[in-house]
Amino acid sequence: MSLEYTSERGVELVSNANKIAQRVKELNDKARLVCVSKFKPASDIKALYDAGYRHFGENYVQELLEKAKVLPKDIQWHFIGGLQTNKTKDLAKNIDNLYAVETIDTEKKARKLNDVRAQCGKPIINVYIQVNTSGEEQKSGIAPEECLQLAKIIVNECPKLNLEGLMTIGSIVQSISSDENQDFKTLVEVSKKLEAELGRKLELSMGMSNDFEEALRQGSSSVRVGSNIFGSRPTK
Ligand SMILES: *Cc1c(COP(=O)(O)O)cnc(C)c1O
Repeated sequence: MSLEYTSERGVELVSNANKIAQRVKELNDKARLVCVSKFKPASDIKALYDAGYRHFGENYVQELLEKAKVLPKDIQWHFIGGLQTNKTKDLAKNIDNLYAVETIDTEKKARKLNDVRAQCGKPIINVYIQVNTSGEEQKSGIAPEECLQLAKIIVNECPKLNLEGLMTIGSIVQSISSDENQDFKTLVEVSKKLEAELGRKLELSMGMSNDFEEALRQGSSSVRVGSNIFGSRPTK
């Protein structure tokens, strides 16, 4: 996997990312931009890394492993894809610079990730609970009303996990509407309730290419932007 990129591609990527980063800063100067690089070559990531970007998001364990192996070790990787039980070990064990797993939506996944981190003697890993705020059946994520119970299990029974926040993928319908995004609103409400119950602050990972500005206006502290930076992806 080559890390070399053409100067043309480098300029294009950095200019795209800088535009988004600028907009993020204007709307919330403490928010983080996670560049979502799934299906894109490691050389694209290297171009952004060379311009100072450090947080990258990937959806597939195998793809993340391959990229993490060749790319600089101070990249902060976010796993944002569906977590399969049989891949948890690879993810938890083999990427030292894994920053967070953002897609915990069952007790089973939380316990499995916690156990693997303990078994292989790895440090505490940040996690986000993925919440299905839109109620769409095909979407992953735990139902809002079940979120507190899972949060308590993570906080009280998973010493190798640090609950950093909540994550959601808003519905398309909400992302193209010009009104307040109801899915983001739901995540904010769930988060407030959990913060009160748990007595700790939670980050909010919400907003993608189509809706990151609205997400920031509604309180997002971490946006995950892919196609606005890297261009469109091949359809699977
Ligand atoms: C692919 C993906 C993104 C980025 O989507 P874009 O619309 O390309 O910005 C963000 N979050 C998750 C969970 C994703 O799977």
